[in-house]
Formats: sequence, structure tokens, C-alpha cells
Amino acid sequence: MVTRRALLRSGLLAAGGAATAVAAGGHVEHWLGWDRPPLGGGYAAAADDLGAVHRGGVRIHYFVPTTEKVVALTFDDGPLPSYTPRFLDVLDEAEVPATFFVVGRHLEEHAGLLRGRLARHEVGNHSWSHDDLATLDLAGVRRELERTHDAIRRHLGREATLLRPPYGHLGGSTVLAADAMGYDIALWSQQMRERRYAGDPAAQARDLVGAVRPGSIVLAHDAGDERRLVALDALPAVVAGLRARGYRFVTLSELLS
Ligand SMILES: [Zn+2]
Repeated sequence: MVTRRALLRSGLLAAGGAATAVAAGGHVEHWLGWDRPPLGGGYAAAADDLGAVHRGGVRIHYFVPTTEKVVALTFDDGPLPSYTPRFLDVLDEAEVPATFFVVGRHLEEHAGLLRGRLARHEVGNHSWSHDDLATLDLAGVRRELERTHDAIRRHLGREATLLRPPYGHLGGSTVLAADAMGYDIALWSQQMRERRYAGDPAAQARDLVGAVRPGSIVLAHDAGDERRLVALDALPAVVAGLRARGYRFVTLSELLS
């Protein structure tokens, strides 16, 4: 677990930018510095805002330390009519739960794609516009997250508890805003390599089945350019392959609990 205090101590919040982290027990414990300059934008709240946003820390997860063979599939950037229903169909057919990190403006327009189809699935916050939150000031980040949180509640009747910032960027005011809203942050440890394996779902499935470890969080996308469909085509073989290795699929919140 990395607390906001630890982040402040490490200088991450003060400096902004993308940090490199080392895993210890599945959580971020050592920040090694950042691999590029700060991105600009306002990093912290004004002094008189700090009390208002300090809720006691944000946990940042990219896998879960466990010996149990559990894995969480996550799908970002939807819902959009092009692919989201097809992913839901494959997941339903295989009876596999997943977590969808939705883009608020997509949800606002296409909530019907998810409504009534989420019984086994979880929904998380992936910002309103998919802008890089690290480039926004605190008020801007909060607008992005609150609009999306509200859309998830209005359209789907869910209270999201997990944030995945676009591009996995944690810089700027992202962690402060997550803290203020009571969110934990979920990144990933494995992913569908949609560019490398475009058009070769069998290779994609082999790669991912071989890469998953107990507690893995897997990133894929249910929106975007056509190369991302390799994830859809690979999904049945991924599910079968991981089940053959003894894995069970859970939502991200289940994995984290
Ligand atoms: Zn995204």
C-alpha cells in the first residue's frame, strides 16, 4: 500500500511526472524516481484545499499477492457499440466475470449497452474524456472523475470504488483526487498485446496464458482501433487455457478483497 503521506515524502506529488515503482508484496513501496520530466499542470491543491481532500490514503494495485490461482480481466475505454457487446457475449458464454473501466462520455451515450448485462461484472472509473489526468489541475481531475462517477451511478446504479487513470498515469493531481473521492487505483500486471499480436489471436492467447500468475490483473480494451479485436478473438482460448492451468476468474474488487 502506498499512502498519500508516503507519496509526499517521496516527492512524487511535489514533482509530478511518471514514477517508476518496485513491487514489494504486490504494492508500491519504493519509488525510484521518474523516467521523464514533470508533465505540467497543477499538482496539488491550494493550501486551504488540502484538508478537504485528505481522506487518509490511496491504495495502488497492479497485482495482488496470493498463492491462490485467481485472475481479474479488465476492459478499458468502452462502452461503445462496435465491440463492447461482443466482449460481453464472449464473457457471458464463458461465464467469466470481468471489470469494465468505462469512459464517462461513452457511458453517457451508450449506457444501454451495459444496462442489464452487469450481473457478474464490475464497473470502474476511467475518467470522463480519457484525457491525460496528469496534465490537469486538481479541479480538472475531480471534474473528470466526478462526472463519470455520477454517470455510473445514474445509468448503472453502481458506486464505483476503483479508478484506472488513462494511460496508467499517476502524476499531477490524480492521486490527490482519488484520495478525495475515496477511490483506490487499479493498474495492471499483464496485458493483451494488441499491436504485437494483431491478427494472431492464437499467439496472443499463448502469450497471456503463459504470463498470468496468481493475482494477476490483465488489461485489455473493449473499444479502439481494429487491432484490439485480437483480444476478443483470443478470449475463448485465454479462458480455456487459464482454466486448464487451474485459474478462476474474479472481478477486481473480489481479487482485492
Ligand atoms: Zn484507456
